[in-house]
Amino acid sequence: MKIVSIVGARPQFVKAFVVSRRLEPDHEELLVHTGQHYSDDLSAVFFEELSIPDPDYNLGVGSDTHGRQTAAMIEGIEEINRVLTDHVSDLLFAPSDLAKTMLEEEEGITDGVHVVGDVGYDAIRWAKERAVDDVFDRLGIEPGEYVLSTVHRAKNTNNPARLEAIFGALAATPKQVIIPIHPRTAGPLREYGLWEETTRAHTVIDPVGYLDFVRLLEGAERVVTDSGGVQKEAFYLETPCVTLREETEWRETVECGWNRLVGADRTAILEGIAADSWPESAPPIYGDGHTAAKLVAILEERIGTGPNSD
Ligand code: UDP
Repeated sequence: MKIVSIVGARPQFVKAFVVSRRLEPDHEELLVHTGQHYSDDLSAVFFEELSIPDPDYNLGVGSDTHGRQTAAMIEGIEEINRVLTDHVSDLLFAPSDLAKTMLEEEEGITDGVHVVGDVGYDAIRWAKERAVDDVFDRLGIEPGEYVLSTVHRAKNTNNPARLEAIFGALAATPKQVIIPIHPRTAGPLREYGLWEETTRAHTVIDPVGYLDFVRLLEGAERVVTDSGGVQKEAFYLETPCVTLREETEWRETVECGWNRLVGADRTAILEGIAADSWPESAPPIYGDGHTAAKLVAILEERIGTGPNSD
């Protein structure tokens, strides 16, 4: 089987890594980077740890003015692209029963849908076996005694009022906060005069590798984030999550009490960080952590097992 994987941003690299491992050595995979995030922007170790090869093709979106415009356009119609992709696909791999129901109710799609779970859970299982504790020593922190925070969504970083509410709340919490800063966020923090206060109050670090990040997330008392992937990862690691968004695609994590949506409301953020009513354990909503194997088996069944089948 020949597979072309198209990836562009950090969470997609994590997911592609899990599936690529499963495709090897029986199948041929071509990797296409759309080029939004690459090692210039994010931790180089992130790419090394996940053994992400140089792309076979790099579309370079975001690398020049025209590229930036294209990227902005793609960002603007992203949801539309997703829906279009759903409709032209023969196979759709849904992470949960709710995702399958939403495909049916919101897009009228029932054919070719397979609930396989989330490959992100496979990645967490892989990382948990490998992660070591020395990130705690390096940062001089103790597991269970800090809050982890990541902020990078344009809705928050491009809006001074939201950015100020979020970083004002983080600066006001008495707990220690570790902030691996996304390249997209550092500029606006400086521009809106929030950098000094943030770095004085808390530990701002460069983005870390995936293994360190998983360890930091597992050891955190809470995570405060606007990331999509981190909400789910927090759930797998049973770390309470305070989400800086008004809605989430991972509704199950909210419904079962592991995730609170607080938007950019300073009071709600502080209440979320201080809250101590969180569930005891996380139910297996997004599969069993063996999703890549299920997904590749379905592809093999539908497309063929030989390296030259197409
Ligand atoms: N991540 C990482 N290092 C960091 C911050 C995040 O490896 O310093 C990982 C994290 O574990 C998750 C992914 O990056 O798998 C999430 O990426 P991001 O928050 O950029 O994107 P989103 O999920 O919001 O699209």
